Amino acid sequence: MDNRIIERLQFCKETNKRITFLVGAGLSAESGIPTFRGKDGYWVSGSKNYKAEEIGTYRMFQLASQEVWKWFLYRKSVTEAAKPNQSHFMLKEIEDLVGDRFALISQNVDSLHRKAGSSEERTYLIHGDFDFVRCGDECSSELYPFPAQIRLTDRDKDVITPEEWEALRCPKCREDLRPHVLWFDEYYNEKYFRRDSVLRISKETGILFILGTSGATNLPRTVTENVLSRNGMVVEVNIEDSYFSELLSNKKNGISVRQETSPFLTELRNELANWF
Ligand SMILES: [Zn+2]
Repeated sequence: MDNRIIERLQFCKETNKRITFLVGAGLSAESGIPTFRGKDGYWVSGSKNYKAEEIGTYRMFQLASQEVWKWFLYRKSVTEAAKPNQSHFMLKEIEDLVGDRFALISQNVDSLHRKAGSSEERTYLIHGDFDFVRCGDECSSELYPFPAQIRLTDRDKDVITPEEWEALRCPKCREDLRPHVLWFDEYYNEKYFRRDSVLRISKETGILFILGTSGATNLPRTVTENVLSRNGMVVEVNIEDSYFSELLSNKKNGISVRQETSPFLTELRNELANWF
């Protein structure tokens, strides 16, 4: 482990600065969950072939909510079967060591942090959470648990049964429920996606680790810029160059580590366990 990282972690311990992790789809790839971008970003339904950016939108939900649900139920069935990997477990162990200084900002909606035992209080799911649904018409902002009546194994991906469709109705107004996720044509907010909380955390952060994400969306970018502008350290862990490598390349507090996520986190956990 780079000595600058260890010194910075010790500094965070002494000064009560936050130790923050920003993670994305790369973390769950090892658990077999596709990124739903690039070559995995297609959805074939009947004779139609959609791009993720097209079907994962509020606009499409208004036009064809059943089509959107077919796609999400398929994705939910994939995540339901997936198990957390070493990276998820190491993040949970690091949280246990670091306590209230810890914050996990995750772009993943796949429930794997919860399955690994990360706490609800210190985990910020900025793209939503597959374990919940809410009213598609926003008659209230209440989150409902994902309906238990919906079968998630051996799904016929082209069929939603009438009973399942009934379970996908808002209990208050009977409009269609929607997945509790951030769609491509929607914006971050505090109510659903903890935007303000995450921005506050970025300003209290002494060291930010960026793992398994290439920086495609604007909130992660702002978080990173906030940390750097307050003299925090930013460590990007990625096997290849990303938006963040470029951003960090000329910053004295920026470090790019060319390594897989899980060995890095394991090493970090072992280092912290020695003295935290
Ligand atoms: Zn409603």
